[in-house]
Amino acid sequence: MLLFTPGPTPTPEAIRVAMSVPTIHHRTPEFEEIFKVVREKLIQIMDMPEVLMLASSGTGAMEAAITNLCKSHVLTINAGKFGERFGKICKAFDITYTELKYSWDTPALVSDITDTIKANPSIDVLCIQICESAGGLRHNVEEIAKAVKDINKDIMIIADGITAVGVEKIDVTHIDALITGSQKAFMLPPGLAMIGLSKAAVTKIENTPKGFYFNLASELKNQRKNTTAYTAATTLIIGLKAILELIEKEGLDKFYNDTKNRALAAKAALEAIGLKIYPKTPALAMNTVYHEKAKEIRSIAKKKYGVNIAGGQDELKDKLFRINNMGLIAPYEIAWALNAVELALDELGIKAYEGTANRVFVSNIFKGIQ
Ligand SMILES: *Cc1c(COP(=O)(O)O)cnc(C)c1O
Repeated sequence: MLLFTPGPTPTPEAIRVAMSVPTIHHRTPEFEEIFKVVREKLIQIMDMPEVLMLASSGTGAMEAAITNLCKSHVLTINAGKFGERFGKICKAFDITYTELKYSWDTPALVSDITDTIKANPSIDVLCIQICESAGGLRHNVEEIAKAVKDINKDIMIIADGITAVGVEKIDVTHIDALITGSQKAFMLPPGLAMIGLSKAAVTKIENTPKGFYFNLASELKNQRKNTTAYTAATTLIIGLKAILELIEKEGLDKFYNDTKNRALAAKAALEAIGLKIYPKTPALAMNTVYHEKAKEIRSIAKKKYGVNIAGGQDELKDKLFRINNMGLIAPYEIAWALNAVELALDELGIKAYEGTANRVFVSNIFKGIQ
């Protein structure tokens, strides 16, 4: 079965092999050396002055960022399930929040955010997804973050980059906390979250330590010494070292370029067989299609052609399908996923199979036709 869900993504064989070593103790010079290498590589790839690794799924890092950085009032952007989650976290901790809600295909407007901030001077944190995975939407976080900082540079910008880090180069100039997780573009099994931090975020965290397991001040203190406050996710960190080395071998630029070319080629292929790309501003992490028969298309792709693509969530559960584009994906694999979609359309009597998706994808990727 080909796994084409936008998280978890398949773990390459070399990485699985790298993780198949006996468990080592986390309080040893041997593990601290591995931790140090990974920490330095993460600081580089995230382009942030500081980085923390947490033994949790991505949501743990979302919670940690909010509880450690908010002192009064959060503004959340809800254009999907994950944006909604920021609000749920605030609610769970009795943190005051204001939510700006958008349809799942629509990116946040800079002016909506700046107007809300001007009207609510107590807002000290903005939470936003870079890619909102619910609808495969790219928010213009860079421009939004800059506009917010122009109003008040002390407002902390928490960017959920769980499906953006490792997908594209992110301009982090105005971002204070950049969150990601192991099971998306880094192709690891789930269970490790990472947060890149700005200098201002570090200062804020150190001045007012908060929480227990997700006390980022105590993590900062420990991780700067290449250890963790509690038991580290050793095996996943060993896997992360292997994946970062693998990406580095061919270069980060090539990794981002391949991801982009593949995303656009797959998008062109889907459009060529008459499918509608759902978000108004598609992210590169996945291709998201709206179709009344999305559920049936997925079911045929899975049962008959061995391709597991993701559906939607909530009310769009059966109306969307999402094909992952994160990580190292061989063109022949995604070509087969696109074939499976076209074959499913044929079986459902929507459109006769002509090999169009495959032809358009392959000509885009290998012949550079845009
Ligand atoms: C997957 C995902 C999350 C949630 O991460 P978990 O690892 O499931 O906790 C959060 N935000 C976005 C944008 C995601 O894609």
